[in-house]
Amino acid sequence: MTATDAVAFTAAQAVDALARGDLSAGELFAAYRERAAGEELNAFTWVAEEAPAVQDGPLKGVPVAVKDLFCTRGVPSQSGSRILEGYRPPYTATVVENLERAGTTLLGKTNQDEFAMGSSNENSAFGPVLNPWDRGRVPGGSSGGSAAAVAAGLTPWAIATDTGGSIRQPAALCGIVGMKPTYGAVSRYGMIAFASSLDQAGPLTRDVTDAALLLGHMVSRDPRDSTSIGLPEAIRLPDARRLDGIRLGVPEELSGEAEGIEPGVMEAFEATLRVAQELGASLETMRLPHAEHGLSAYYVLAPAEASSNLARYDGVRYGLRSDGSDLVSLYTQTRHDGFGPEVKRRIMLGTYALSSGYYDAYYGRAQKVRTKIAQDFHEAFERFDFVVTPTAPTVAFGLGTKVHDPLAMYLNDYCTVPMSLAGTPAISIPNGLSEGLPTGFQIAGPAFSENAILDAAHALEGAIGFDGSRAFSRGGMPSTPPERGAPGPLGL
Ligand code: GLN
Repeated sequence: MTATDAVAFTAAQAVDALARGDLSAGELFAAYRERAAGEELNAFTWVAEEAPAVQDGPLKGVPVAVKDLFCTRGVPSQSGSRILEGYRPPYTATVVENLERAGTTLLGKTNQDEFAMGSSNENSAFGPVLNPWDRGRVPGGSSGGSAAAVAAGLTPWAIATDTGGSIRQPAALCGIVGMKPTYGAVSRYGMIAFASSLDQAGPLTRDVTDAALLLGHMVSRDPRDSTSIGLPEAIRLPDARRLDGIRLGVPEELSGEAEGIEPGVMEAFEATLRVAQELGASLETMRLPHAEHGLSAYYVLAPAEASSNLARYDGVRYGLRSDGSDLVSLYTQTRHDGFGPEVKRRIMLGTYALSSGYYDAYYGRAQKVRTKIAQDFHEAFERFDFVVTPTAPTVAFGLGTKVHDPLAMYLNDYCTVPMSLAGTPAISIPNGLSEGLPTGFQIAGPAFSENAILDAAHALEGAIGFDGSRAFSRGGMPSTPPERGAPGPLGL
């Protein structure tokens, strides 16, 4: 076997191949580095020159791509923004540190919407990312670079963040797996903040096993992030093949009844519901009565938190500094030059929503809606194991088609935002194609149900039989993994 063949491996298969000695960490890194450095999707903002010294650990020698907004010591970390031009943090995010301790190697930083605000990756100071399935279309956002890099086989896997859907929606649009864990499962220390009560890191991977493997090494309780609690039980590698006895709730508000969900996306979703039934699950339509207000509440709360978080960028301490005749003009000119239009829009919206006289009418009311939505989920999980929906209402759309219409762009998050507001974990798995493009199937469960969600996702993934390597093969990639030898430590 050559290292070039090994890029067709899932990360879990690579772990086993490395452990067996079928291939070396250096060879694997070099094969991915060559692909990442030569890519044409604009998925990477920075690619490592050489593999740093690898720590001994269960993922020893497996490269990982990291969304630009994770601070990585000495390595550019700009969160897709011009205002952080040239910023190389003096410290590393806990999640990245955890992965380094597990033995992974930083392959590169991935492109994203500026400060993770967007659903198409068109709001990046580094320019848009192209979808590997169709280069005229967006990969989704805000973690478009991470998702495109995984789908195109430029990295075995990637980590990203999800505030209102930024892991799940690009996973759906690129035909890969993406998971947002329970709020608090993962430390936010060293993540460049967008909306702190919603931001959560998670994995983007080729399959569900890899999602479990990567997430398991990300989770920790971190004294440097007081909202981090870790998980009560360790993440296991999923092995379920059936869904016997599993009760699935299909919320009317987030599926057939909802406006704007494309018929092809609904068909793919319904096909997977039938697969779930064949595997033994029971289905019932149900209601999440406040979910349809999720988007309105989110687009008050997230900008409000962002306006506070982004007040620190003033041209004095980090990144870009524009000339100004006095201190105030230095601030205003730096912010004028450094922030893109979507970020400016959110800062203004958020500042307005928090201003005295409007605080109760906007921010206070949005908080109440958030509580109602959390209660809806709480009640749903008394009757159902999981709530399932299409991940995104549409397949990948054309570059430039929604970027000047913020409302159309925000509607992409319709099915993912409610879980973010409720803080519950949710995964998106590839769900077959509509118009030749990937769609996603979302499974949400109660807080801390990561293992159960991963098991259900694994059972469905096996039955759906989606060939995620298709985007790869279009990019000239090997489409079938080479023969595997004796099982390695993960038994793969
Ligand atoms: N698309 C949503 C937004 O623009 C979600 C972004 C995210 O999850 N980071 O806010």
